[in-house]
Amino acid sequence: MSGLSRRNFIKVAAGLGAAGALMPLRSFFSGSHLKGLSADLSAAPLLAGGSGTKPLVISTWKHGLPANDAAWKVLEGGGAALDAVEAGVRVPEGDPNVMSVGYGGLPDEDCKVTLDASIMASDGRAGSVAFVQGYKHPISIARKVMEATDHVMIVGEGAEEFARKNGFQREDILTDAAREAWIKWKQKMSEEDDWFPKDLDHDTIGMVAIDAGGNLAGACTTSGLAFKIHGRVGDSPIIGAGMYVDNEVGAAAATGKGEEVIKICGSFLVVEGLRQGLSPKDACKRALERILKKHGAKPTFQVAFIALSKEGEIGALSLQQGFQYALAAGGTNELVDAEHLL
Ligand code: ASP
Repeated sequence: MSGLSRRNFIKVAAGLGAAGALMPLRSFFSGSHLKGLSADLSAAPLLAGGSGTKPLVISTWKHGLPANDAAWKVLEGGGAALDAVEAGVRVPEGDPNVMSVGYGGLPDEDCKVTLDASIMASDGRAGSVAFVQGYKHPISIARKVMEATDHVMIVGEGAEEFARKNGFQREDILTDAAREAWIKWKQKMSEEDDWFPKDLDHDTIGMVAIDAGGNLAGACTTSGLAFKIHGRVGDSPIIGAGMYVDNEVGAAAATGKGEEVIKICGSFLVVEGLRQGLSPKDACKRALERILKKHGAKPTFQVAFIALSKEGEIGALSLQQGFQYALAAGGTNELVDAEHLL
């Protein structure tokens, strides 16, 4: 990897004051699990999109397929987009084989599984939780925050206590497979991983949907970067970063290196692009270009956006090759290779 290795960083950081420790962190974040992939845009598949159908649901990565199935069941019965996105993302949250979301998610560097999630409704309400341990379905806790309080975000022990008081079941969500992955990582002491181990399936699920009534909603839930520093929170629970909905214009969600998404208010920026008349694909492109501009060099990390307009048109784009999204509309549910910018 470029920059400092993780082990070296820890040594260097230990020898620096708090301010000094911030500097290596920046170079520390320079790699990604998609290092070295093609930058040939002409070879990229064409974007799906522009379907303009309702209802419709789109979500990130291949675990989006079963998630879309669950969301579709709600939508095809005339249900609300909000219920659909919650039901949808609960599927990977509850699946121990999805090692990037909910139960079975990869732990942080202290072998603790800490989860982030956010949800947003068509009437502008939003709820989120971050750095939550011991609960399989942070998306439903986030929804509870949205519906039962006038707060938007609750984190850490406070969120766990809130969940307990609201009847959510506390469970051990660290699976044997996730623990073994952590032991392997620990044994290697991560000279190379940059929190994106190359041999493990991971990535956030972001989902946006439009229901038969034309209303939009979004949800985003993750265990965040594998083996992250304890307490690290990514973009997924931050309204406007990992996910955003404006029922007048559209909705968007993000996956990839959350730090980069937070710095540009990514999903909000995509939705603002829609408001200004950009197509969903062009709105994603403009947000990714903002990252590139701010980064100042050709990055090796991955960021991807999905977007859905009020008219039911969709678009998606990633920085690097390899991003896939699942699109369910008109009774079909398909995995699509997204176009990539680099
Ligand atoms: N965006 C997530 C985060 O930074 C990671 C991912 O999408 O895999 O926490």
